[in-house]
Amino acid sequence: METDLLIIGGGPAGLHAAYVAASNGIKTIVVDESFSLGGQLRQQTQRLTNLPKQFDSQIGITLMQTLVERLTDLDVTILSKHTMIGTYKDGRIGVSNGQRTIPISAEKVIVTTGAAEEAFVFPGWTLPGVMTIGAAQIVMNREHVIPGKNAIIIGSNDFALEVGKQLIENGVSLQGVIENEDQLIGCKEETIQFLKEAGVPIYQNSYVTQASGAGEVEKVIINHNGSEKEMEIDLVCIGKGLTPILEPFEILSCDFAYEKDLGGWLPQYSTLMETSTASIYVAGNAAGITNLGAILLTAEIAAISVAESLGRQCKEEATEKRELLWQELYHLESADSKAKFHGRIKLMREFQDNVDIQLSKLFNMSVGGV
Ligand SMILES: Cc1cc2nc3c(=O)[nH]c(=O)nc-3n(C[C@H](O)[C@H](O)[C@H](O)COP(=O)(O)OP(=O)(O)OC[C@H]3O[C@@H](n4cnc5c(N)ncnc54)[C@H](O)[C@@H]3O)c2cc1C
Repeated sequence: METDLLIIGGGPAGLHAAYVAASNGIKTIVVDESFSLGGQLRQQTQRLTNLPKQFDSQIGITLMQTLVERLTDLDVTILSKHTMIGTYKDGRIGVSNGQRTIPISAEKVIVTTGAAEEAFVFPGWTLPGVMTIGAAQIVMNREHVIPGKNAIIIGSNDFALEVGKQLIENGVSLQGVIENEDQLIGCKEETIQFLKEAGVPIYQNSYVTQASGAGEVEKVIINHNGSEKEMEIDLVCIGKGLTPILEPFEILSCDFAYEKDLGGWLPQYSTLMETSTASIYVAGNAAGITNLGAILLTAEIAAISVAESLGRQCKEEATEKRELLWQELYHLESADSKAKFHGRIKLMREFQDNVDIQLSKLFNMSVGGV
């Protein structure tokens, strides 16, 4: 197959990039290893309030439908159930459905493969009934199966506690949130309030020492402030956080940098969202773990940069649009975490000497000079 633009990953970032690119007359292919589009938006039932101004506040699943449906009349080919598995010597990209591999020749590539969940490891963590918080969310909201009756959550980030709220709303008894630190980590005040009102105990300075049971988890022992406590539960949700998926960037020979506030190791990129490998762009959680508004904006920036480099947008127009998008991204991202935006700028500055003047001004204003 031949195309102007290949997008690897059909989550919100990939779908939004496809829309912006194809609306600029760019022939686009979207490849996704899953059987349906939408990525991790497919199981998000919470209302999203941190979206770019072109989107109304809405629940995740509704947004996913909008992002998919608006591609219908555009020059976008969708290859579901196809995984990017490698490159050929001549630069073509191989995508496979397990039976055959299609080489795709693309002028430009945007990689939007998202993030993976991390896990805490403890004796008994491989027992059925121990799962990541995202897995519990998928089982509950996508497959409509309640993953357990009596649960604990390990970790207290915003995503973990939001799913905790959803578990309670679906009738699961949440018996506790186990947090290693002496405070809750980065979660919204309203979610904490909900959990308090629901009577969920929060165990700070605590960790799970063991999970056990006959063939599936039946109890856990936690260390709470130095003393042991036994809990009878059948569901342990691990919420350690997300980290960008790196394999596609390794295959494409991209350079990496480490930014703790963006989820750890990630590809280096410029203010165009272009990586160290020419014509390979990145967007979404693959460019740093962040909120959905920032995810969509990075996708738009990458698509505008592709449009400019393919001659579908003039330099002045593209520069002006990018600048507005970076400003909006700054506001949306810093509302959650100034450290994240700071990390993003540090990453780009280390990679790119000639950050353009307007962006440079914004960066200096926003973080007091990096
Ligand atoms: C299990 C899980 C649950 C989450 N739930 C929430 C939540 O409730 N709230 C929240 O704010 N955030 C949540 N997140 C964070 C989530 O990553 C973002 O909300 C958002 O979906 C990220 O968008 P994205 O487009 O960058 O990546 P994703 O939505 O992750 O989409 C990436 C897509 O790339 C595809 N892909 C990956 N590798 C390949 C490959 N090699 N070849 C082809 N296709 C590939 C995947 O199938 C996927 O469809 C969750 C993350 C995970 C992992």
